[in-house]
Amino acid sequence: MSSIFYKTDEEIELIKESSLLVGKTLAEVAKKIKPGVTTLELDRLAEEFIRDNNAIPGFLGMYDFPNTLCTSLNSAVVHGIPNNIPLKDGDIISVDCGVLKNGFYGDVAYTFEVGEVSEEIKKLLRVTKECLQKAIDVAISGNRIGDIGFAVQNHAENNGYGVVRELVGHGLGRELHEGPEVPNFGKRGNGLTLREGLVIAIEPMINMGTRNVIQDKDGWTIVTKDGKPSAHYEHNVAIRKGKAEVLSNHEWIEEVLKSK
Ligand code: MG
Ligand code: MG
Repeated sequence: MSSIFYKTDEEIELIKESSLLVGKTLAEVAKKIKPGVTTLELDRLAEEFIRDNNAIPGFLGMYDFPNTLCTSLNSAVVHGIPNNIPLKDGDIISVDCGVLKNGFYGDVAYTFEVGEVSEEIKKLLRVTKECLQKAIDVAISGNRIGDIGFAVQNHAENNGYGVVRELVGHGLGRELHEGPEVPNFGKRGNGLTLREGLVIAIEPMINMGTRNVIQDKDGWTIVTKDGKPSAHYEHNVAIRKGKAEVLSNHEWIEEVLKSK
């Protein structure tokens, strides 16, 4: 993980612009998600939308990743590669997307239901979203990185879920992955003290079963060891006094989902 960079308000505005564009892109993706659609179709749509908005897909080519979206199906946690397999009723698909605009990255993820999913899966999605919110609630100046991890871990484990250890949130700005690492587990009062000007991606990855993960033979996709589903939501947050400033939004996505 690279160095930590504290941002000016002007830089934070530019990160916000990029983060919001990712939210809009994911809202376009949300319109198309249904049984029968392939993740490659979603990927093409996202790439076109990002380029039409004068930005560059942030993941395409990064560490040689081949696509615009990471599309992680059911037991896939993150880093799934879009393919030609149609989505099925009852699937969940985590879509992670980044853009680069004006020299700054945005990086947002959302887990979507495909058709009708089970109540058990709906609960996993709800609790993972709650983990993200609880993390944002403590992402304020003077608190520690460990407070964020504790908030996620405590809520997930209280619900019997596993918290992925191998992948973590991160600082972001001119680089997609800057310091500090933002783990989804930890101890209150431990780790770096959060200061104004820090911009971080908070991204709980929560498994219905074991926290253990393995890498798929494609060399990219991270999947749960027990094959049970996993959920992933991500926001970009600027550290402020008293209350975090959430730079990204999921609202456009959720407006689309409500109207479906
Ligand atoms: Mg992401
Ligand atoms: Mg991220």
